[in-house]
Amino acid sequence: MLDKLRVYNSLSGQKEVFEPLNPPFVGMYVCGPTVYSDVHLGNVRTFLSFDVIYRYLMYLGYKVRYVRNITDVGHLENDADEGEDKIGKKARLENLEPMEIVQRYANGFHEVLAQFNLLPPSIEPAATGHIVEQIELTQTLLDKGLAYAVNGSVYFDVAKYDKDHNYGKLSKRNIEEMIESGRDLDSQDEKRNTIDFALWKKASPEHIMRWSSPWGKGFPGWHLECSVMGTKYLGETFDIHGGGMDLKFPHHECEIAQSVGAHGKDPVNYWLHTNMLTVNGQKMSKSLGNSFLPHELFTGSHELLDEPYSPMTVKFFMLQSHYSSTLDFSNDALKAARKGYKKLMNGLRVVKGMRYQADEGQRNEQLVAQIEKQVAACHAAMNDDFNTALTIGQLFNLLKKINSLNTGNLLFGELGEELFAKVKQTYIDFVENILGLLEEKPADFDSIVDSLLEIYKKAKFAKDFAKVDEIRAILKRNGVIVKDMKNKIEWAYEE
Ligand code: AMP
Ligand code: ZN
Repeated sequence: MLDKLRVYNSLSGQKEVFEPLNPPFVGMYVCGPTVYSDVHLGNVRTFLSFDVIYRYLMYLGYKVRYVRNITDVGHLENDADEGEDKIGKKARLENLEPMEIVQRYANGFHEVLAQFNLLPPSIEPAATGHIVEQIELTQTLLDKGLAYAVNGSVYFDVAKYDKDHNYGKLSKRNIEEMIESGRDLDSQDEKRNTIDFALWKKASPEHIMRWSSPWGKGFPGWHLECSVMGTKYLGETFDIHGGGMDLKFPHHECEIAQSVGAHGKDPVNYWLHTNMLTVNGQKMSKSLGNSFLPHELFTGSHELLDEPYSPMTVKFFMLQSHYSSTLDFSNDALKAARKGYKKLMNGLRVVKGMRYQADEGQRNEQLVAQIEKQVAACHAAMNDDFNTALTIGQLFNLLKKINSLNTGNLLFGELGEELFAKVKQTYIDFVENILGLLEEKPADFDSIVDSLLEIYKKAKFAKDFAKVDEIRAILKRNGVIVKDMKNKIEWAYEE
C-alpha cells in the first residue's frame, strides 16, 4: 500500500496530507515571471520545482489545472508602490513599445523553460488581459470599507482588515507592531499606514502603461493580478498556490488579505514555497548582480564557471536538493551532477532496451521483498513533500538491480516477470515523466554510435587492435565508452 502524499503547507507550518477540495481535480496557481528582463537560474529553480510538483500530481492521477501568470503590467520597482515602471523604463531606453518588451521576455522565458523540459501550464494568463477584473476587485474592497481612494490611487487598509482578520498569518510577521510604527507617517505620504499597499495607482505623466478606471488613469497594484486570475480560473478557494519564498511577504500575504476581504474566505488550502538558489550563500538576484543566465551556463561564458554545463546537468543539480532547502551554486556540485545525470541516463537506456528473459533463475523471495521495498521507496520519497533528492537516491538503488540484470549477475527468474515489469516502469516513469529528465543527444546519435560499434566488432574479430583502439578513442572523445561484456558489446555515456 503506497502512503499518501504529504505537503509542507507554509500557512500551517506543517506537513499535511494532501486532500484536494474536489478530487480528482486539483487547482494550482504559481506566480509567473515579471517580463522585463531575462529569467535567471534562480527563477528557473522555482519554476522547475513546480513543474515536478505538477508532473507528480498528474502521475498520481489528479486532473490538474495549472495556472501560471505573466506579470506584464508595468509595476513600480519597490513592491508596486514606489520607483519607476520597470517595463516602461526598458521600453523607453530601447525605443520600443512596452508590449514588445513583454513579448520578447515572455518568449525568452518559454524558450528557457523548454530547454529544461518543463511542461507548459494549462493556462498562462497575462495581467494586462485582466484589468477589468482588477478594477472590479478594487471596487469591491472599497465597497466593503477595506480600501480608500486618495488622489487617484486606491490603497488597502491593512489596520482595518487586521481588526477582524489576521494580516501576517502566512509570513508569521508581527504585523501589529508594523501597523503601530506606521502611524507616524510623514505628511507627504498619502497612505494611512506604511503597511497599506496599492490596489490601484495613479499613473504619473511619464508612466506609459496606463488604463482608465473610476479613479482616473492608472494601473493595478502588483498583488491584485494573482488574486484576480487565481479566482477567475480556479475559484474563490483552490488547492495549491506556489512561488518562491521571497514572495511570501508582501505578495502572498496581500493576496490573502485581498481575497479574504472580498470573498470572506481563504483563497488557498496549501501554500507551497520554494527556497532560493544562492551564490556564495547569497540569494541569486538580478538586483544583487550575482545572477547567471541559463545560456551562460550552457556556453560556459560566465566568469564563475570552469566549463559549460548542459540543461539536464543543471536540472539534475537542482533536483538533487529538496525544493524547500537553499541550494548553493558551485562548479563542483555541477560536475558531480553531470556524473549522476549520466549514470541515471545510462540506466534509462539499458532498462528501455531490456526485455524479460525466462532464464534458469529461481524466484528469490528475499530479493523480491527487497526490490518491492525499493520501488515503494521511490513513491514514498515523492510522497514526502516531493522530495526529489531522496527519490534520486532511491532510483540509484533500483539502478543497481537493473545493472546487475544487464550484466547477468542477477537472473530475471529471481525477480519474476511481474516485478521486472514494475521495476522497469517505475524507473522510466520517475526519470522521464516525474523528474522530467531527458537524454541529451543529437538526432542521429544512436545510429552513428551503432555504426561505429559494428566496425569495432569486425576489427575485434579480425584482431585489428589498432583499429579497435582508434574507434574506442573516437567514441571517448564524444563522451561514449565501449563496454565489452560477456556475450555482447554495449555503449554507455561516460560518467
Ligand atoms: P520574478 O520574475 O522576479 O518575480 O521571479 C519569478 C520567480 O522566481 C518568483 O517565484 C521568485 O520567488 C523566484 N525566484 C527569484 N529569485 C530566486 C532565487 N534566487 N532562487 C529561487 N527562486 C527565485
Ligand atoms: Zn503572484
